Amino acid sequence: LLTGQVEFLKGVVAMDGLPPADRMEVCFAGRSNVGKSSLINALTGRKAIARTSNTPGRTQEINYFTAGDSHYLVDLPGYGFAKAPIPIVERWQRLLKAYLSGRATLRRAFLLVDMRHGVKPVDAEIMKLLNNSAVTFQVVLTKADKLSKAAQDQTLEQVRSALAKHPAAYPEIVVTSSESGDGIPTLRAIIADLT
Ligand code: GDP
Repeated sequence: LLTGQVEFLKGVVAMDGLPPADRMEVCFAGRSNVGKSSLINALTGRKAIARTSNTPGRTQEINYFTAGDSHYLVDLPGYGFAKAPIPIVERWQRLLKAYLSGRATLRRAFLLVDMRHGVKPVDAEIMKLLNNSAVTFQVVLTKADKLSKAAQDQTLEQVRSALAKHPAAYPEIVVTSSESGDGIPTLRAIIADLT
């Protein structure tokens, strides 16, 4: 499903710009610099389909990709970038809320969390928002290659306790590294199995 047939469709800045809700979609959310672009590139096997950037918070659009005719992949703007001007932050919070509560075809949100950092307060805020919007969300830990097994286990414990508060949380946590490819086939299979 995800390899070889993913194409960029459009960048969306307002709800009326969303493509027709004619197929299921999954979205990817996470703090700026969490490794979201790298993960989408790894998932799709395309080196630069999602822009990898060291300028966090630059991309403010909801980016839509088509995966064959059956799925949309949706790349949400990175959040938690302190230097973004407040009006911009507020504008996209409104858009994010509208998107999460108004998109009937959204099957799952993948919430990316940097495995070195664990769940930060801003991630906990997004979890609340997802939960209140009744969007099933699943945590994907990124950059696992940067941690020892013991440090990985510590983050896993922290994430599990953060998830326990949220009925909309999907219990399985996916550990990934875009660098080594660990966990990428697992995540691909999870997306392909959604109906
Ligand atoms: P985004 O802002 O969330 O889209 O994050 P990027 O994909 O641009 O990645 C941010 C930084 O983290 C870049 O310097 C990437 O090279 C690095 N990075 C992303 N994924 C990984 C990973 O799995 N392992 C390691 N070691 N570095 C990563």
